[in-house]
Amino acid sequence: MEKKLIEESKKYLMNTYARLPVVLRKGRGMKVWSTDGKEYLDFVGGIAVNILGHCHPKVVIALQKQSQRLLHVSNLYHIEPQIKLARLLIETSCADRVFFCNSGAEAVEAAIKLARKYSKEHGVADKYEIITAHGSFHGRTLAALSATGQEKFHKGFEPLVPGFKHIPFNDIDALTKAITKHTCAVMLEPIQGEIGIKLPSESYLKQVRQICDDNGLLLILDEVQTGMGRTGKFFAYEHFGIEPDIITLAKGLGGGVAIGAMLAKDSVAHSFQPGTHASTFGGNPLACVAAIATIETLLEDGFILDNCNRMGKYFKKSLERLKKEFPSSIAEIRGMGLMLGMELTKPCASIVNLCLEKGVLINCTSGNVLRFLPPLIVTEKEIDSLIDVLEDVFGEVA
Ligand SMILES: *Cc1c(COP(=O)(O)O)cnc(C)c1O
Repeated sequence: MEKKLIEESKKYLMNTYARLPVVLRKGRGMKVWSTDGKEYLDFVGGIAVNILGHCHPKVVIALQKQSQRLLHVSNLYHIEPQIKLARLLIETSCADRVFFCNSGAEAVEAAIKLARKYSKEHGVADKYEIITAHGSFHGRTLAALSATGQEKFHKGFEPLVPGFKHIPFNDIDALTKAITKHTCAVMLEPIQGEIGIKLPSESYLKQVRQICDDNGLLLILDEVQTGMGRTGKFFAYEHFGIEPDIITLAKGLGGGVAIGAMLAKDSVAHSFQPGTHASTFGGNPLACVAAIATIETLLEDGFILDNCNRMGKYFKKSLERLKKEFPSSIAEIRGMGLMLGMELTKPCASIVNLCLEKGVLINCTSGNVLRFLPPLIVTEKEIDSLIDVLEDVFGEVA
């Protein structure tokens, strides 16, 4: 049956993903099962989406209840779960107001529009340019793509949206030099995810914040991947002793349900007024109750964030041990909390395939980096299982 499904998948869907030969049907916690009944340990976690694991009971029950009450109403009206979720996010962040949308790219689009609108209202009329970093990833819609600092994603889609300038990440001089009278904002991922988990130096983001303040620029942090406790704190910016003006969130926000959010300080948020920006499904009741259940569970007595920190350290140590064992295959281990990358000396596709055969899902990004973004509920035992499989696999390919 699985073979037939894969044939149909290839026939009917646009060929936008290099999919592995498995059809996933069911998930619980750290595990997923395919249509042919095989069990997998999931260290991809929907690429940072399944923050509480698959089908967390609190999220499932919230969705069941809401699905019998109200699925959708327009943003022409106030919506109960949206208000509660907004309050939760504001109480948890340095921001004052929220705009809801449905994905990371949409949250980035909203941030770009807000930054431009605010700057035009508060500076000169042609203040519109946003500086972003080489190696960044901000999404696939046209403006988010133009903001993304990787040429390979731009190819074939030109002309791009004007008004973006890309500079090397972690390079303060380059930032200072790139600022002109047209610059309105700097947008960065606190830790770059898609390019293979690249961390800023300890003082980088603090210096960026200072430069933004000195030049009247907004600081936008794209926390679509790093947010929701992924790095051991609710937002990654909390590690660096700064506050951004605008934050984007998505991926883990709905605990597996599609939702995005753009958060901003009051003074900036004020530039969005009725008619300036909107989304039909943004803040949909069903998505909002999933996000409320996810955040409440995540913050409940701090257990999950604590687990993320402890398991992150344990995981990183285990990967370092593996690196010592296979120095010619493994170049570097990087990361924070449960956002970990292992750079290999060769492309990692064969490693991913061998792990799949042995019942473990892992992700390869940027060609040669194994990226681990497991649910924050992962245990030592599950990390040990992955490490055992990786040890076998590296032994086989060595
Ligand atoms: C995944 C990602 C996005 C895009 O999110 P989508 O939901 O796929 O549109 C944007 N920014 C960052 C940092 C991401 O990791």
